[in-house]
Amino acid sequence: MRIDVLTLFPEFVDSIKEYSIIKRAIDEEKFTLNTINIRDFSKNKHKKVDDYSYGGGPGMVMTPQPLADCIESVKTENSFLVYLSPRGKKLTAKTSKSLASYEHLILLCGHYEGIDQRIIDLYVDQEISIGDYVLTGGELAAMVLIDSVSRMIPGVLGNKESADIESFEDNLLEYDQYTRPEDFRGMKVPSVLLSGNHKKIEEYRKESSFQRTLENRPDLLKNKK
Ligand code: SAM
Repeated sequence: MRIDVLTLFPEFVDSIKEYSIIKRAIDEEKFTLNTINIRDFSKNKHKKVDDYSYGGGPGMVMTPQPLADCIESVKTENSFLVYLSPRGKKLTAKTSKSLASYEHLILLCGHYEGIDQRIIDLYVDQEISIGDYVLTGGELAAMVLIDSVSRMIPGVLGNKESADIESFEDNLLEYDQYTRPEDFRGMKVPSVLLSGNHKKIEEYRKESSFQRTLENRPDLLKNKK
């Protein structure tokens, strides 16, 4: 898979390539990640990429020309273009899984008050939001999406980091986890986890998963099969 991020701040997005599982996956060529500076495509003599909003209003809007030219420089018939936007459908584990199956993802990061609607109408396959709040730009949202999608690409996670047992699988949050030492400041690891009884451990984890979901995300249980 190839991911191209169209942004006004390529260095910001590039930083994600330097760390942890994403760095390893890129080094092992499980996917490639490129950043492209939208400003480089501006035909304005001052490289301007924004202008006033028709109809008035306080903020600036990203102009269509640099965006269209930037998109057309990378888009092919196999591309799927996502515009990160608070108006989009909310990102879920299911969306990440389905995005991981594309050969070429293009992530468009907005700034200011957003982008000219005609760019959305012409090129965008899906608008995705990372949550019900407004960020100053799409870069952090793109990085969140890249992180969550990359984990779904076959071979990116090792066995030790399997995605199958994590939160949101089967509409449940993950069970409580413990590691050494057995006793930390008088707080003991639940004895069932030390018992070696796999059936009991599984039951304990199912119950713990259910309780955490009930406490923090009861909405997920409504959709549970
Ligand atoms: N005026 C827009 C609105 O009210 O919907 C918000 C624009 S925001 C200040 C600038 C850019 O940040 C957007 O174009 C988008 O790319 C990105 N952005 C902000 N919040 C986001 C979110 N929750 N999810 C994804 N992208 C977001």
